[in-house]
Amino acid sequence: MTALAPLDVASRLPRLRARLADEGIDALLVTKLANIRYLSGFTGSAAILLVSADEALFVTDGRYTQRSKEELGTAGVDARVEIGLTAAAQRELLVAAAPETAPVALEEHSVTWAEQRELAAAFPNGVIPAAPLVEELRRVKDLGEVDRIRAACAIADDAFQSLLPTLADGITERQFALKLEFAMRERGASGNSFDPIIASGPNGSKPHHMPSDRVIQRNELIVCDFGCIVDGYCSDMTRTVSIGDPGADARHLYDVVLRSQQAGRDRVSAGVSCADIDRASRDVIGDAGWADAFSHSTGHGVGLEIHEAPRVASTANDTLLVGDVVTVEPGVYLAGIGGVRIEDTVVVSADGAEPLTLTPKDLVL
Ligand code: ZN
Ligand code: ZN
Repeated sequence: MTALAPLDVASRLPRLRARLADEGIDALLVTKLANIRYLSGFTGSAAILLVSADEALFVTDGRYTQRSKEELGTAGVDARVEIGLTAAAQRELLVAAAPETAPVALEEHSVTWAEQRELAAAFPNGVIPAAPLVEELRRVKDLGEVDRIRAACAIADDAFQSLLPTLADGITERQFALKLEFAMRERGASGNSFDPIIASGPNGSKPHHMPSDRVIQRNELIVCDFGCIVDGYCSDMTRTVSIGDPGADARHLYDVVLRSQQAGRDRVSAGVSCADIDRASRDVIGDAGWADAFSHSTGHGVGLEIHEAPRVASTANDTLLVGDVVTVEPGVYLAGIGGVRIEDTVVVSADGAEPLTLTPKDLVL
């Protein structure tokens, strides 16, 4: 893997503070791990971050004493790191750092009912809900982040293309999924961005089919949806292929989805509404008579999480910004017959959009 551009982690807390000031929030308790990683560079599995106007307190447990200090130090993040060996000790540290006269805001989309009740009782001025402010910041990727998503996409491209010939070897969906996972890790990925979906023949009618022991056949549609993670950042791609000619009906189905995917991709550009992209893809499939068989939204943002803002859906209110990384992934699913989905991950650039997933879209192998 070539060297990745550095991540600018240190600038993120100041940007969050500006958002907190806009929202009239004195302190935000960040509990969602992906958000903590984004703000601090911490890659462990447990931490809490309290961000106020003049301080950031990072609290983790004894497993991460050394790693947390190393990672926050390397990232140049201006936060006080404290270790609480028990949940009660951690709570005490946070309560002591809370504003004296204002409530603490909680991330309303990621806090459980039980946590909200406990935190409301613990903080002397109570708690208030906060919108997904860190997710808003995360939405627009900088060069270092795009570099990581690009690297993850390149690994997935290379792994998949190297394995395509093995689809003809009489292997099962599960065996192919496992080969793919291994090949991506072998090329430097730290893991899957989600469990691969390998759906052959009639299984393709289930958009999120779980790979089974079904042997992949010749002359049938095979939907392959997979991705990997590089330095925390995900990739996402779907290709539908066939070993040998799958027949005229399947070729027509493929052609419609391919045109739908291209129509959506052609619309991806800064200033375009996400609903417009969904409509562009959906219209092609609707015109072919399969409106009801395209049973999910057209795409989603990709970053530290495999699904993040912005949504590319008919009900989305967002407009694309330079630095958004989104998928375009229309599909048609016909029960008892099979399905086709084609998906690319695309970054919105100043002069349009750059696809990051580059595997050719040849149906017949
Ligand atoms: Zn996907
Ligand atoms: Zn996707």
